[in-house]
Amino acid sequence: MVMIVFMGVAGAGKSVQGKMLAKKLGYKWLSTGELLRQNVTDKRKAEMLTGKLLDDGEIISIISRCLESKKSESRKIVLDGFPRTLVQAEWLIAKHLRKEIEISAVIHLEASKEVVLQRLLRRGRPDDTEKAISLRFVEYEEQTLPIVDWFKSKNVDVYEVDAEDSVGKIHQKILNSLK
Ligand code: AMP
Repeated sequence: MVMIVFMGVAGAGKSVQGKMLAKKLGYKWLSTGELLRQNVTDKRKAEMLTGKLLDDGEIISIISRCLESKKSESRKIVLDGFPRTLVQAEWLIAKHLRKEIEISAVIHLEASKEVVLQRLLRRGRPDDTEKAISLRFVEYEEQTLPIVDWFKSKNVDVYEVDAEDSVGKIHQKILNSLK
């Protein structure tokens, strides 16, 4: 199973770009945020609304089940929103090292807080309140951002993409970087 992983702070455009790339390359798009919104308990949904990251063990078991069920139908996956912590990244890279999956690229979408804040306030999802957004920024900086360099240190191909442009231009930059 080949995987392209999208990373970036909330509002950087992971889902928009992930879906576009998946469509263009014939990959299946898989988002943990989307899976969670569809599948978790009310208690977890309430937790998500605060902007907090959910428990690693729970997320890993959800994604693990999902990958198992997709094994036969889909060999190529765009992963959006996972991993977000070192524990999750270690789980994923262990699969990569065992050759159960191949992480072919990590796309890191970079955008300033000012730009993503405006995007999120315009999007207006239930967890796009100022309070939840600021917690997501903190979680991102403390837990997720360190994984980008960590992936590089594991010899995974990481592409940094300036994500402050228009949707079309960012998509093009992603395609160019994957060439
Ligand atoms: P997203 O749709 O990617 O913005 O995710 C929405 C919310 O789902 C996040 O703010 C977290 O509460 C939760 N979530 C999604 N992916 C993960 C993950 N990999 N680890 C922990 N929590 C996650």
